[in-house]
Amino acid sequence: MVAGTSASREPRRRRSAPSPQALERLEKLLGSGQVLIAGRDDVARYETDVLGRHFPACWVARPKDVDDVRAVVRWAYAERAELVVQGANTGPVLAGVPRPGGRHGVMSMELCRSTIDVDVVNRTVTVSAGVDLDTLNDVLARDGLTLPIDLGANPSVGGMVAANTGGARLIRHGDVRRHVLGLEVVLPDEHATVLSLLRRLRKDNRGPDLKQLFIGSSGTLGVVTAAVLSVDPVPRQVAVALVAVADGPDVLRLLTVLEARATERLSAFEMLSRPTLEAISRHRPQGMRWPLASSRAQQLPPFLVLVELNDADTETSGRQSLEEELAAIVEHASAEGWVIDAWFGPPGTLWALRHAAITALRQEGPMVAFDVSVPRSSIFDLRERAIALFAETAPHARYADFGHVGDGGLHSIAIWPDDLPVEQRGEEQDRLRDAVYQLVDAFGGTFSAEHGVGPDNEAAFRRYTPPEVRALHAALKSVFDPQGILGAVDLS
Ligand SMILES: Cc1cc2nc3c(=O)[nH]c(=O)nc-3n(C[C@H](O)[C@H](O)[C@H](O)COP(=O)(O)OP(=O)(O)OC[C@H]3O[C@@H](n4cnc5c(N)ncnc54)[C@H](O)[C@@H]3O)c2cc1C
Repeated sequence: MVAGTSASREPRRRRSAPSPQALERLEKLLGSGQVLIAGRDDVARYETDVLGRHFPACWVARPKDVDDVRAVVRWAYAERAELVVQGANTGPVLAGVPRPGGRHGVMSMELCRSTIDVDVVNRTVTVSAGVDLDTLNDVLARDGLTLPIDLGANPSVGGMVAANTGGARLIRHGDVRRHVLGLEVVLPDEHATVLSLLRRLRKDNRGPDLKQLFIGSSGTLGVVTAAVLSVDPVPRQVAVALVAVADGPDVLRLLTVLEARATERLSAFEMLSRPTLEAISRHRPQGMRWPLASSRAQQLPPFLVLVELNDADTETSGRQSLEEELAAIVEHASAEGWVIDAWFGPPGTLWALRHAAITALRQEGPMVAFDVSVPRSSIFDLRERAIALFAETAPHARYADFGHVGDGGLHSIAIWPDDLPVEQRGEEQDRLRDAVYQLVDAFGGTFSAEHGVGPDNEAAFRRYTPPEVRALHAALKSVFDPQGILGAVDLS
């Protein structure tokens, strides 16, 4: 089994772009407007990632359903044409855009949106892969239901499955994996085999759970065409506070106290450090109300934590309301002297500050963002070491961070001055990547907490994944994708 290594998929290395005749054959397979050819049609938006990086595509196919997907896959297999599957193109690790070189095609799932079938009694939804999260939640809301994956972007269902999206409510509701009950997947083999694993079951033990292999596979093993997701009741009560504390140990103390007192009602615990708050205050989105007492840099706290409690109950059944409960916990901590300040307000206003973080930081200058996680008990030790490492290896960069600290996630960001020569920045970036990934590994952490694997972190995958695990990945790849046509990364 382990013998199926990258050597047996050697063809991947000797590809060229499909010929004009091959592209004509592709066009004949799908309806009009469903195939775009570079040079003739405008394909720019499929070639540019969320950070504005651009890699030319040779062709773009836009299937509408599973039959179209199969037709494209069979064509790609016959032509040995490499392709990446693209959902809403919000992934930040280059996994959904072509590899450099201009020979890759893109299979965009944006037209695969025919089905959103809600089963209220089963509390599930069967949904096409191209449906986006906001649309799905709008439909679910009519029945008082929601897919509780919360992030500052609007990804597709297929992209969320392939990246196993986490988001800000993972601490309570889990990642996408926790919600996937069934999948339909087209394999990139000769027959474009359809794996119909689309059952609406919460228990099913007919052998190993094969659908798990595609969750978090970064679009390398198959094309997800539909999913059955377990969904939750929309929370009827939500209480949010922004809590200022002086240091990392107090952030973790707040987390421990909240988990002990609010138990499973704690639905988000998001940290923003002062440099990130400064960036948000400088690049505040239009119309955003500043929720803290001041936006002056010297008056911003070292750490601000967004805390959310939610509950599906409308009634508090003799308990305090969630707002009272949250206020009581925070007041108690203030009385003990380790919470500096706290702000309560409409959830939307307080969340707007959190969701503004990444966009504001991007406006500060060229940046590299690390998406790491460690056991959350170590997160501030890691942070302290990371700050020192940034200073040593990337002396021209500034450090900022924020993250889903409640689940051990940290987005550490390096920002360079605009006027630093590109080569110098490139050298510092390379050194920094190596150093940060080594540090995270030493903490027993991961170089990819929630964004999956793409060309951005492929080298880290190679370096920090044990050889026996990589050999198994290679073996799986050669079973599912014998010609090595699918995906922007080689996970072997
Ligand atoms: C502002 C912002 C905030 C974000 N916050 C978070 C966050 O809090 N948590 C988090 O986890 N992520 C976050 N992300 C990252 C991103 O939104 C997620 O990774 C998302 O799940 C990607 O989905 P997508 O549809 O955009 O996929 P794409 O970016 O199009 O593709 C991502 C990967 O999925 C594969 N793929 C897409 N569709 C399919 C399919 N149908 N079948 C097989 N493979 C497929 C692609 O090949 C690629 O490997 C954020 C992104 C932005 C821009």
